[in-house]
Amino acid sequence: MRRGVVLMAVVGAVCLSAMADEPKGKDKMAEPAVQKMKFGKSADGKAVELYVLTNGKGMTAKVMTYGATLTELHVPDKAGKTADVLLGYDDLKGFESKGNPYFGCVVGRYANRIAKGKFALDGKDYKLATNNGANHLHGGLKGFDKVVWAHKGSKAAGGSASVSFQYASADGEEGYPGKLTATVTYVLTAKNELKLDYEATTDKATPVNLTNHAYFNLDGQGTGDILDHKLTIFASKYTPADASFIPTGKLAPVKGTAFDFTKSKAIGVRIGELKGEPEKGNPGGYDVNYVVNGGGKKKLVPAARVEGPKSGRVMEMFTTEPGVQFYTGNFLDGTVKGKGGAVYNKHAGFCLEAQHFPDSPNQKSFPSAILKPGETYRQTTVYSFGVK
Ligand code: BGC
Repeated sequence: MRRGVVLMAVVGAVCLSAMADEPKGKDKMAEPAVQKMKFGKSADGKAVELYVLTNGKGMTAKVMTYGATLTELHVPDKAGKTADVLLGYDDLKGFESKGNPYFGCVVGRYANRIAKGKFALDGKDYKLATNNGANHLHGGLKGFDKVVWAHKGSKAAGGSASVSFQYASADGEEGYPGKLTATVTYVLTAKNELKLDYEATTDKATPVNLTNHAYFNLDGQGTGDILDHKLTIFASKYTPADASFIPTGKLAPVKGTAFDFTKSKAIGVRIGELKGEPEKGNPGGYDVNYVVNGGGKKKLVPAARVEGPKSGRVMEMFTTEPGVQFYTGNFLDGTVKGKGGAVYNKHAGFCLEAQHFPDSPNQKSFPSAILKPGETYRQTTVYSFGVK
């Protein structure tokens, strides 16, 4: 009964805010809206909600409270035809399954790797959960992607539709110091941008690195590989790494290497040169952190631009972060059965993850990823869509 009342209040509030904004005589369809739906129960018995954001300009984003995950993103192509450009699953069970390679979720407390799951802070040694060989990856065994976040509010106003989620990570969780309260807000704007705003505060100094792990295929999920997508990355340097993806600590120029995307080129052109070391668990392909030109200075700068060759869809990425991990779904091997029965083979999607550099807590020369009590961590990333 109480739950019903709360639900009605939320839906009412959402509808009201959408209506309050409605200019007279204008097509109602052109208004942004947020709709709340049930999305089942998590394996540990928690109710999971799905929020459907529409902007009245042809785009729809669906985000759920489990992992603060972006489950679907519908974008028009050059003919105005809409398709879901995100790899993922049809239901919660899929997203909770063991083989889920972080589709669309928010990754934390620390996205990417921390070598050997160890770091020292203010003279104290910390030991984190290790879940990627000897290393710590994407927050550990039960990262922010595997917990149910609390809904903090939804809005449909000023041309945009948005939803906020919050998660309080306990002191000691996965080995991290301090209670960290993290908030993520997804905003779908009238300009066909999906904006992700992150904030976090802590009661003890701790590493923080939040990102979204969406796998994109701009021609539509399940349509094959992304090797013919054309990519520009606004980075003249990258952070070379060892076979287990731990950076050496150096910044290297991309010029003349297979990592050079300073001018638009198809992802597949030189991917064959990146053979990896399969015997050490590195299957080859792009899985590397780029140093965004002018990044990490608290203002949005262009990080990447991608074109889907068949659909004409274009995605531009802007971020406040110093780095972006470009990952070509190298570990996808056809075992994941995705949306509508789609089989995701190697390179079925690509990720562009805004982030602090991998292993920053152990790399003195990298921008610091330490948040202290009294400070607020902030990260903004925008994925902006259009056509060519
Ligand atoms: C990492 C990959 C990892 C993948 C997990 C990416 O962010 O860079 O090495 O395998 O996440 O799905």
